[in-house]
Amino acid sequence: MNFTIFGNPVEHSKSPQMQNAGFEQLNFDGKYTKTHLEDGGIIKDVFLKNNLNGANITVPHKEDAFKNADEVRGMAQKIGAVNTYILEDTQVVAYNTDAPGFMKAIESFGNINSVLLLGAGGTAKAIAVALKEKNIEVTVLNRSQSRLEYFKELGCIAYTWDTFKVSQYDLIVNSTSAGLKDEDLPAPKNIIEQSIQNSKYAFDCIYGKKTPFLQLASQNNIQYKDGEDMLLYQGVIAFEYFTKQSASKETIEAMRKGLKKG
Ligand code: NDP
Repeated sequence: MNFTIFGNPVEHSKSPQMQNAGFEQLNFDGKYTKTHLEDGGIIKDVFLKNNLNGANITVPHKEDAFKNADEVRGMAQKIGAVNTYILEDTQVVAYNTDAPGFMKAIESFGNINSVLLLGAGGTAKAIAVALKEKNIEVTVLNRSQSRLEYFKELGCIAYTWDTFKVSQYDLIVNSTSAGLKDEDLPAPKNIIEQSIQNSKYAFDCIYGKKTPFLQLASQNNIQYKDGEDMLLYQGVIAFEYFTKQSASKETIEAMRKGLKKG
């Protein structure tokens, strides 16, 4: 069976090595490749033309993939973006596995009732929908105002840097791209420091790097983790849709090893 990840850029993606390691562990006859796609508007046509059984979708095509799918299932309907396509008969069915992947990744912190979510982009939408689904209180803090309306409608408290009033949180999450390719904090240092000091745990969606945000969490002695588990579990959940089997502990560990390879 054939699978791929669509993106632009896609060269850096670790999904093939993660998914192929899982297929191998399971003896599943699957091959997972990368597909560079310029125009997200034709994603379904390319998916069908390439005889794919399933695919993942990454930046910047998740919203186009949502619009083009024949059917969207689960939390993706509210999020408005999908990262997984599955061929069912002749229909392209779409899911968002970033949202449950995030929830799985934060399980290791224990019980979470309130979250301060930094950023208001696509990833923040997935995280906010998943958290609200579990009745967790969500406060969103973003640099600019324009993206906050979606979160207010979802029932989140929403601030820009100018209007922010700190409260107490079980968890603070960086879902901005600050720290990805630069050494920026997700908001001015006084805001981040004060917020971290009022949180029990910190999570950064960025993986493979101790970002300035995580460095500050570490300096303030709060437990933290990076986005590796989120990436792993969005992949594991997609893998379960691809193979129509639940992933065993052994498969998940093989996928983690695959992710860390090279
Ligand atoms: P988007 O481009 O959709 O959103 C980016 C957000 O970050 C916006 O809210 C933007 O604010 C904010 N932002 C960008 N730069 C800065 C800055 N210098 N200071 C403060 N805020 C900033 O991105 P995504 O939601 O797609 O991705 C966000 C991050 O999540 C990325 O780092 C990505 O790598 C990571 N990610 C990790 C995954 C995983 O599996 N671990 C999965 C998906 C994403 P504004 O609205 O003001 O522009």
